[in-house]
Amino acid sequence: MISEQSDIAIVGAGPTGLAAALALAHAGAGVALVGSPPVPQSPQRLDTRTAALLQSSIDMLRALGVFDDLKPHAAPLLAIRIIDDTGGLFRAPDVEFRASELGLEAFGYNIANSLLVEALYRRASSEPIAHHPVTVDRIALSPSSATLSADDGFTLTAKLVVGADGRHSICRKAAGIGGSERRYGKGAIATSFAHAVPHRGVSIELHRQGGSMTTVPLPDPYASSLIWLGDDAEIEALMALDAEAFTAALEQRLGGLLGGIGETSARGHFPVTVLAADSMTGRRTALVGEAAHVLPPIGAQGLNLSLRDAATLADCVKPALKQGRDPGADAVLRAYEAARKPDVLTRTVGIDLLSRSLLSGFLPLQAARGLVSHGLNALPPLRRLVMRLGMAPPTELPSLMRPGAGGRQVATAHGPVQA
Ligand SMILES: Cc1cc2nc3c(=O)[nH]c(=O)nc-3n(C[C@H](O)[C@H](O)[C@H](O)COP(=O)(O)OP(=O)(O)OC[C@H]3O[C@@H](n4cnc5c(N)ncnc54)[C@H](O)[C@@H]3O)c2cc1C
Repeated sequence: MISEQSDIAIVGAGPTGLAAALALAHAGAGVALVGSPPVPQSPQRLDTRTAALLQSSIDMLRALGVFDDLKPHAAPLLAIRIIDDTGGLFRAPDVEFRASELGLEAFGYNIANSLLVEALYRRASSEPIAHHPVTVDRIALSPSSATLSADDGFTLTAKLVVGADGRHSICRKAAGIGGSERRYGKGAIATSFAHAVPHRGVSIELHRQGGSMTTVPLPDPYASSLIWLGDDAEIEALMALDAEAFTAALEQRLGGLLGGIGETSARGHFPVTVLAADSMTGRRTALVGEAAHVLPPIGAQGLNLSLRDAATLADCVKPALKQGRDPGADAVLRAYEAARKPDVLTRTVGIDLLSRSLLSGFLPLQAARGLVSHGLNALPPLRRLVMRLGMAPPTELPSLMRPGAGGRQVATAHGPVQA
């Protein structure tokens, strides 16, 4: 029987939980991380599941001392090209957004999930963070503390429990936080593939009736990761194909965009869902990552949003700890809820609308999409505005994500300087 105490207990050692553990430890909290550690994997040319992390997330990884380890395995995203392949009456013109238009070296980096989680875990192991590799099965919340327990007799008492335990969060349920979930009747395949024409750092979003396909550069100039979205039946049929038939289907869908297709990696199959918790907080509880919000894999938003949760929670807890106050007090939780609501709401509603617009065959919507694309091509200020909205939350960035927190170079009129 192990019985421990901590300021803050984090449930879940996925990417969000690990980032939250590091951010909160940096804020001066005594942190206990509860959850299974990652299974070590070696870097692969074609990783199945990757995450495109925007510059602010990369700044956070830098500030946490994780990015140097990852950079050799990370591919910079220099441009995003959007192609309308819906076959509608009003075909929208192609739009290409370039990071250089915002004075950035890159919009962000594409990183294999497995390598990201391992790098975060290595870093967390080198910090004074107590790690308990168990699965929590009970949480009791009282007005003054939270007690977590697991089957083997493990118990842990903390002032604040951080639910980083994914979409089926036990923390969300224990705190009595409800939520709404929307299934689109769609699925996604995540895989990677080799191609004959170099990607040149360009991510391609190919939109068509009923689904979309996004390629994201990998560190090898002749390899990209892929998210293929479609109706459940179509995705199931694609999953059932052997490697050769899948390659042929992919080559046909891409229509020669990256030249001939070579090897493809294992395919992962994910449901397309939007889940939004009614609140990010409950008694002695703060939710982060997919425990609070699940987005469809469109527009590379999910993990970026989750990292902003982790960094914001650290900002809310830090002043309380500095003044010797309770990190799980209602005032801290209210500050976290207020700071995260606008960002989470705009992303979940925005991605929901985007998904429905992209999947729509409704003529006025097609025409509107075409007009917006014309405007984006013709008006550089509008392009820059859209890029900034996609890159950053509507509120101020949390301190770990501000340029300078991790020593990123920023471009100025006089050349790059250390921020
Ligand atoms: C196909 C696909 C592509 C994506 N691409 C991108 C992208 O390009 N950019 C982007 O920003 N986002 C992307 N996302 C979203 C991103 O992958 C997720 O937001 C992210 O993985 C969520 O991480 P998490 O730590 O919140 O949850 P999870 O990864 O689900 O981690 C939860 C952890 O909690 C543990 N856990 C659960 N219950 C318990 C318990 N009771 N006790 C202890 N531990 C527990 C689990 O074992 C797990 O380790 C993509 C998602 C998909 C499906």
